[in-house]
Amino acid sequence: MLIPCLACESRFVPDEYFRACSAYNRGLDLVLWTCPRCGNHDEVRVLPGELGFGYTRRGRFAVHDRVRVPGLRRHRADLRLDISLDKASWRVHSRVRQLA
Ligand SMILES: [Zn+2]
Repeated sequence: MLIPCLACESRFVPDEYFRACSAYNRGLDLVLWTCPRCGNHDEVRVLPGELGFGYTRRGRFAVHDRVRVPGLRRHRADLRLDISLDKASWRVHSRVRQLA
């Protein structure tokens, strides 16, 4: 399973991909992803079995593109998002308390 950067089309193994996530925004339920290759920033919603890419507009996040990641799971905590896939897991912390 390789996950693509939607900007440069580089593909990453899950560990490399999810380690590039930062700044979980609980209100909008998204993380910021920075491509290790091209530096592109994407806003990503981690969903069961898939990633949702989109845009924030007027305080809402709208998913426009989905990438299936079979077995992907997420657990929302107060100041972090825990992501797991197979036996691996990643923890994305909130940068600051953000208003929804
Ligand atoms: Zn890229």
